[in-house]
Amino acid sequence: MYRSWLEVSLSQIAGNFRAIRKLAGSGVTVMPVVKADAYRHGAVEVSRVLEEAGARWLAVSNVHEGIALRESGITSRILVMADFLPTSRPLFLDYDLTPAIHSLEGIAAYDQLAAAAGKPAPFHLKIDTGMGRLGTRASASEILEALARTRAARLEGLMSHFASAPNYTTAQTDEQIATFTAVLLHLRNAGVNPTMVHLSSTVPLAYGRKEAWGNLVRPGHAIYGYISPAKGATSPCLLEVHPALSWKATVLEVKDIPAGAAIGYGGIHTTGRETRIAVLGVGYADGYPHRLSNKGKVLLQGRAVPVLGAVSMDLTTVDATGLDVKPGDAATLLGTDGDESIDAQQIAKLAGTISYSVLCGISSRVVRLYV
Ligand SMILES: *Cc1c(COP(=O)(O)O)cnc(C)c1O
Repeated sequence: MYRSWLEVSLSQIAGNFRAIRKLAGSGVTVMPVVKADAYRHGAVEVSRVLEEAGARWLAVSNVHEGIALRESGITSRILVMADFLPTSRPLFLDYDLTPAIHSLEGIAAYDQLAAAAGKPAPFHLKIDTGMGRLGTRASASEILEALARTRAARLEGLMSHFASAPNYTTAQTDEQIATFTAVLLHLRNAGVNPTMVHLSSTVPLAYGRKEAWGNLVRPGHAIYGYISPAKGATSPCLLEVHPALSWKATVLEVKDIPAGAAIGYGGIHTTGRETRIAVLGVGYADGYPHRLSNKGKVLLQGRAVPVLGAVSMDLTTVDATGLDVKPGDAATLLGTDGDESIDAQQIAKLAGTISYSVLCGISSRVVRLYV
């Protein structure tokens, strides 16, 4: 019995991966993104099940996430997308991790290391096609010059990332694709042919923006059962996936309090009638957003009931009026109970954030169980 816990369905994760593979088709490799502890689903467990389901590539953010996977026996190729710090560089070679390099200086530095170590050193080059974050903004000729100087490091992939993929009311994605294609063609014309070409995370994959798929896609959110809604005149969503994670909390205390009583820090809720409250063993230290104070809903006995007052560090109070709840009962913060369900997108909307942040924000204090 825990105060708060997660139930993760690995078979749902495998099912989501299979649905993505089916949509991507045989010519497109699916590289599931398992950064941030697999969006809190557990990077090792999720990677194992994805490997069993046939994944040959995984993506993480930093080299330490990659090392943790190697140390638990993951043998797939691992792309490290956002960590090319000087201190990380030797670790790529030691642990057979593949860096996404985002500058021409980075290529030279990696080449030197690889030549000294006498090890194969494939890398993916990330280009900034308009995201304005990581990625080189060098011209194709400058990239060719940098590549011509390498002796050991080998360009295996060319990649980029979209800033506004779900927004079909702007031309930004099309412009990014055009910039990317121009660089790729220039490299190819000069005889440089990266074997992997990739730009797409969940959204361009799910909404079928095929000109952005290249021959590899990098879905994260969809692996965990989520696809953000798109804006504007989109093509229909082609992918069906389902959330794999539920989040529960135990009722620690139930009591009836009179009308006119203040609830919790700051007394920001006052009961309008006699109210039965249930106090749950979860708070913002567990990642339940403080912004859900007086706004959130949880499921108790198959009914959606409101959060009353402020979410505190370790506790949250909800309205249990009319319910026969007892200490030890479970409330569902995220997931399904009877006919009701709440997902990370609904929580995010109430909390004024995004579903990614809700999932990644669940703290390590919340025990994770696999079902
Ligand atoms: C996180 C990330 C992804 C996965 O994005 P989703 O929207 O979760 O599918 C893909 N590529 C890069 C570069 C990322 O940082």
